[in-house]
Order: sequence, then C-alpha cells, then structure tokens
Amino acid sequence: KSKEKGRNCYSFYDTRIMEAATRRYELEDALKTAIVNNELFLLYQPKVCLSTGRVHSAEALIRWEHPKYGLISPMEFIPIAEASLAIIPIGQWVLEQVCLQSARWQAYPHLTSIAANVSSVQLTDSNFINVVKSALANANCAGERLEIEQTESWFMDDPDNNVKILSEIKKLGVQLSLDDFGTAYSSLSQLGRLPLDILKIDKSFIDDCVHNDRDHMIVRTIIQLGHNLGMKIVAEGVEYEAQRELLELEGCEFYQGYLYAKPVTAQEFEALLVAEY
Ligand code: C2E
Ligand code: MG
Ligand code: MG
Ligand code: MG
Repeated sequence: KSKEKGRNCYSFYDTRIMEAATRRYELEDALKTAIVNNELFLLYQPKVCLSTGRVHSAEALIRWEHPKYGLISPMEFIPIAEASLAIIPIGQWVLEQVCLQSARWQAYPHLTSIAANVSSVQLTDSNFINVVKSALANANCAGERLEIEQTESWFMDDPDNNVKILSEIKKLGVQLSLDDFGTAYSSLSQLGRLPLDILKIDKSFIDDCVHNDRDHMIVRTIIQLGHNLGMKIVAEGVEYEAQRELLELEGCEFYQGYLYAKPVTAQEFEALLVAEY
C-alpha cells in the first residue's frame, strides 16, 4: 500500500517538475528578446535620509512584463538570466537606463545617486568596467551619481581578483554598496578589504528589530561595524514608524521600505521629488 502511495506522490511531483521545467525553458528563451520587445522596465524606490526625512537616492529594481505569463519577479528571472548569460546584455541595459535617469534627475540637488543591482556574473565579466564607463559617458553622468549594489556571496570565490575589480570601479567615482548584508557567509576579514561606501542591512534583521532584542542588537552591531569601517548604513525593508525611530536612535543614515514608498515608476518617483521642493 505504501508503495502505491509512493508512486502517486512520484507522478504528482513529476507533473509539477515538468511544468516548472517548461516554464523555465520558456522564460529562458523569451529573455533573449525581452530587451528588443520592450518587455523590461525599471521601478525606483527611494532611499530616505533619516535625519532630514528627504529622498537621498534611489534603487532601480527591474521588472519583466512577459506576453504570456504577465509580470514576473526578478527573484524568478534573474537566476535564469544568470545561468543563460542573458544577464550580460540585461545588466548592461540596466546600467545604461540608470545612468540616463540619474543624469536627468541631477536638477534635484538632494538626490545624490541612483543604484543599480549588479549580478556577480556581470561583475566578473571581463568587459564590465568598459560597460560602466560607456554607460556613464553616453549618459553624460558623473561617476558619483551611480551606485552599484552587489551581494556578499560572490566575493569569496576569488577575493584578490574581486578587490581589483571593485577598485577599478571605485576609480570612476562610482559608489559601492553591499546588499543584503548579514544573510550570506560574511567573512569579516574580507569585508575590511573591500572599498565599500555603503552597507545595506538585510530586511530579515529589520522585520522584528522593535520587538526582538537579539535582532535589535544585531542591527546595532552592524551599524557600528559599518561605521567603524568608514561606511554609511542603509536599512532595507522598513515598514513601520517604530522601526524608523529605532534606526534613527541607533545612528543609521538611511532607510528604504514601504513605510516611505514602494518601488514606483520613474514618473511617480519624479512626482515625489517635485513634492519635496
Ligand atoms: P534587493 O536588491 O535586496 O531589493 C530589495 C527588494 O525588497 C526589492 O524586491 C524591493 O521591492 C523589496 N522591498 C523594498 N522595501 C520593502 C518593504 O518594506 N517590504 C517588503 N516586503 N519588501 C520590500 P524586488 O524588486 O522584487 O527585487 C528582488 C531582488 O531582485 C533584489 O533584491 C535584487 O537582488 C534582484 N534585482 C532586482 N532588480 C535587479 C536588477 O536590475 N539586476 C539584478 N542583477 N538583480 C536585480
Ligand atoms: Mg539591492
Ligand atoms: Mg537587498
Ligand atoms: Mg535581496
């Protein structure tokens, strides 16, 4: 009897796996033409200065409107794009768009920069520095107005080479952030070697920081660690006023989250900027 049950389960999962594989294959194929078909677009989420309450910078977040499946999360398609190397042209497109937008918005003096998320596959591509250089030049965008967000996990594979890559980017004036800090296997000895400007505290530590004392102490310690290494701190995923207050008391510089705004279109973002002046 248990054997029969096992067989049923097997065929059930078999169907599910087949469907998932088909979807993945279709997405991988469609990603090749997503740029030319204008299916990709960027939303912008404000990063707010805790002491002034003003929008200080923005993070560009990619979206894909697939003709058959509708809106697809980057959590699903970025890993597929990384595996198929479609991330190379897509990542280049993101950098170009972000530089253009950042140059357009330089009339708003409090908005210092716009951040692009960059995949490890892109960062370690031999052409990466040239892609950044030409994205800045073609947009007539100062290096300081671009920020690059990367996660910590890519770094350990080849720390020496990766320090070199980051230093090259730093020479262009571009700001460097470490995203989702605390979630991967951070090596503190390596962290000190990276030419980073900003540490982003992952949302998972922010979620319960008001009611969970341990999370509160982790947040406090990350802020101190970053400050001691000369970095500024951004808290991710701030949804409640009590979290914002705690972060302000702890000396965090910036926050980002639904409390202030969800990721919005460029037009809506510009309306937020206009409303501040
Ligand atoms: P991330 O870089 O850590 O971005 C933060 C994510 O948290 C975004 O999800 C954002 O919409 C979400 N978020 C912000 N505030 C809140 C909040 O208060 N509550 C909640 N529940 N969520 C909040 P999103 O846009 O779905 O992006 C997911 C991930 O996809 C990003 O994580 C990033 O790793 C990746 N990604 C997004 N755009 C790009 C891109 O252009 N290139 C690459 N390589 N990766 C990207
Ligand atoms: Mg990010
Ligand atoms: Mg993050
Ligand atoms: Mg994340």
